[in-house]
Amino acid sequence: MRFQNKVAIVTGGASGIGLAVAKRLASEGARLVIADLNEDNLNKALPEVKAAGAPDVWISICNVAIEAQVEATVKGTLERFGRLDVIVNNAGLMQFKALEELTGDDWLRILNVDLLGTFYFTKQAFLHMKPGGSIVNVSSIHAVETEPLVAPYAAAKAAVLSLTRSSALEGKPKGIRINAILPGAIDTPMLWNNPNVKSGVEKIDRADVGKPEDVAATIAYLASDEAAFVQGAEVRVDGGRLDR
Ligand code: NAD
Repeated sequence: MRFQNKVAIVTGGASGIGLAVAKRLASEGARLVIADLNEDNLNKALPEVKAAGAPDVWISICNVAIEAQVEATVKGTLERFGRLDVIVNNAGLMQFKALEELTGDDWLRILNVDLLGTFYFTKQAFLHMKPGGSIVNVSSIHAVETEPLVAPYAAAKAAVLSLTRSSALEGKPKGIRINAILPGAIDTPMLWNNPNVKSGVEKIDRADVGKPEDVAATIAYLASDEAAFVQGAEVRVDGGRLDR
């Protein structure tokens, strides 16, 4: 029970990897805040996370791209639970568009969610977390090797690694750990809606597809005190794509 008496916020926690993380932390005793845009999926996720064993769960409808909503989620967390120990910055958005069709607004939409959302929660953590706190940023394998049609997403996920390094340096004297995880192909709606996967441009062998629970297990480790000496790390969870 690594998260007994701890309070965790999981962004994008109503689906896919985020939901698996929320259930994993719940099963290890965390009191949880699931923050997501999608109210319907939040309401579906709530009983699942409770059933996984969470002593208390609060769902927060939150667009991570809007700083005031992030502040409200953290304020609500502190009012309800009195503390904040873990943030998993998982909410993410992917868009498929050829470079010549991309607009500045497309770039801003992706950067606002995938990069600034992570920044806003990190800022709140630095303002409110006590020493011993931990942040896990969900980047992507796209940060280091990518595919056509996803330039803003790949750039945003690479920037999340950079933000992880900067915040790990500034978090260290505060006793706050920040690490990043780079999932490969994971079996969620985001993967199978990918036109590169559908068309075969991105060759996905079923054997190379991980489960959300595989990612959740590594995130839980990084978020826990077992990883007390792990700071600013970038952990690939991709089943071994190093030969590509
Ligand atoms: P998903 O689409 O199943 O879940 C994403 C969740 O984020 C959804 O519940 C969605 O409502 C929420 N969300 C989107 N925009 C939001 C916003 N502005 N504010 C709050 N919530 C928002 O996708 P997933 O595959 O579980 O992805 C989770 C994370 O993992 C993302 O950051 C994604 O980039 C990353 N990732 C996924 C894969 C994969 O193969 N599935 C691979 C690498 C990285």
